[in-house]
Amino acid sequence: MSAKRAVTKAKDAASEIVKPAAHGYEFGGPIGAALISFGLPLVCYAFAFLCNDVSGCPAPSLLSPRTLFTPATLSTQSGWQHAQSVLAREVGWPGWTGLLTAEGVLGSLAWYGWSLTLYALLPAQETEGTELRTGGRLKYRFNSLITAVVTLFVLGVGSFVLGPQFQVWTFINRNYIQILTTNIVISYALATYCYLASFAVKQGNVDHRELAAGGHSGNIIYDWFIGRELNPRVDIPFIGEVDIKAFMEVRPGLLGWLVLDLAFMAKQYGSYGYVTDSMLIVTISQGIYVMDCFYNESSILTQMDLTTDGFGLMLSFGDLVWVPFIYSLQARYLSVHPVILGPWYSMMILAVAGFGYYVFRASNNEKNTIRTDPTNPSVAHLEYITTHTGSKLLTTGWWGRARHINYLGDWFMSWSYCLPTLLSGYRITNSVLMPGNRLVTRDGMEGAAIPVTYFFMLYFGVLLIHREMRDEAKCRRKYGKDWEAYCKKVPYRIIPGVY
Ligand code: NDP
Repeated sequence: MSAKRAVTKAKDAASEIVKPAAHGYEFGGPIGAALISFGLPLVCYAFAFLCNDVSGCPAPSLLSPRTLFTPATLSTQSGWQHAQSVLAREVGWPGWTGLLTAEGVLGSLAWYGWSLTLYALLPAQETEGTELRTGGRLKYRFNSLITAVVTLFVLGVGSFVLGPQFQVWTFINRNYIQILTTNIVISYALATYCYLASFAVKQGNVDHRELAAGGHSGNIIYDWFIGRELNPRVDIPFIGEVDIKAFMEVRPGLLGWLVLDLAFMAKQYGSYGYVTDSMLIVTISQGIYVMDCFYNESSILTQMDLTTDGFGLMLSFGDLVWVPFIYSLQARYLSVHPVILGPWYSMMILAVAGFGYYVFRASNNEKNTIRTDPTNPSVAHLEYITTHTGSKLLTTGWWGRARHINYLGDWFMSWSYCLPTLLSGYRITNSVLMPGNRLVTRDGMEGAAIPVTYFFMLYFGVLLIHREMRDEAKCRRKYGKDWEAYCKKVPYRIIPGVY
């Protein structure tokens, strides 16, 4: 072989490693990617405005739009303007320029700065990720648990000293919309930066940079959405190297979700002078979920998000906007409309949450243990298939009941976030007996806010079914006949005996 051909062949091989064979489109291809990318921010705004502390949840005119948009109002410009101004008043519309303010931007950036500072300063577990296609392993720095503990301690001290008037809580409740907008902008900017930076991934690079298998279709919008580079990293002065995906996956957004819940709890306490059992159940069950994720932070290394997906808008928006702002909708609802459940209903909801957590944690532990410590007595009795790659696929125990039994536990937990809002819906009116005061009443609104407060259960079910399909396709590609043998032994996907 000539020297020139040998060099070309070596270059091709290196290129294949950095740029693996792309597989087909997911999420409906470029059109689906565009709809999700530009549609989901609108969904976030819709929930934020339609369920509010100005007129009700939902804004009352929306329940009877015909009274607002009559043929008479729509046929004249002044009628149309009147209808618009009523709606704008009812949803607390701040005007286009009010969506993004200096206060909201600075406060949000301070939160990212705080997260990065604690990431750099606090002691951390330094660990290596799974093996890359290029053969090496990246180093990761994990200290989200201690970051959360320090943050919650500071917030606890502030709340103890200043009560619900603690500036962090009042800032969040005053600038909720503007913080939402800032995070949307940051998620778009981050996805764009990572997309552009991914073109620096070259053959034979020594930094272990590589493209995600599904992220280099050549279609700009799709690759920008799904994530082109697998592990984008950035060097920040005084902070050091940060793995963007691992950082965003567990830090500002996930802890931000809990901080938003706490701000809403403070708002409820500030408005009513007490905190309801429903608010406690929502915040504590979500708090346990978040802290559990921090405690098991290193387990993200084997999750699809880290091993397979690139970092594009899908993850940046999901991590920084969708998780904190959509997952905290119930606490936001309860901050305005306090629901008292009583002991029996509370115990029923806690039982559902406890069962879900048990299935979720026990199944995830079983899988992690068989992969990291197979001789451990807790898994030694379990049966498994050893695949041609050497990985073990459990066929008894939790993973013998359904191929993603952990998703079922996760979904049950999501019930405990929604059920405490009962037949949700409220209206805010001016008090006749106490002029100047406002009343929050149910007044014919029972059940009207169910699409808001129960949205999470439905959405999360759809997310988990779709995620299971993506993971199934990945495992089929990776394990081939071994995966088929596993599917024969364990025919159910998520719900044993049903699905
Ligand atoms: P899983 O933890 O479900 O892991 C799937 C991987 O496990 C597969 O790709 C395969 O990886 C391996 N595997 C599959 N079958 C077996 C088996 N029988 N025995 C051993 N290993 C097996 O993946 P996720 O990353 O999706 O989920 C992790 C957790 O995070 C879940 O509990 C999920 O509910 C939760 N989650 C929460 C979200 C939220 O927004 N709250 C969003 C997404 C996930 P390999 O290639 O290594 O064999």
